[in-house]
Amino acid sequence: MDITLHRDRCVGAGMCALTAPGVFDQDDEDGRVVLLDTKPSPAHHAAARLAAGLCPAAAITVTAAREPGSSSTP
Ligand code: SF4
Repeated sequence: MDITLHRDRCVGAGMCALTAPGVFDQDDEDGRVVLLDTKPSPAHHAAARLAAGLCPAAAITVTAAREPGSSSTP
């Protein structure tokens, strides 16, 4: 799993940090999202996907990273 943030879109709603506190935090100064882990462990995947879906600004993109040894077709 790879996570990309679009901080220019972030409105500081904080849903991501509440939903996946192991992956996202908020900047102390401007309240915008901070990514704690660009490649979170599988234990955090469900929460990270949920947070991306809940973000009101669509500022989080979650993509499936190709695992070593997996085929090129999804
Ligand atoms: S939920 Fe979206 S808008 Fe809110 S802090 Fe996280 S990235 Fe920013």
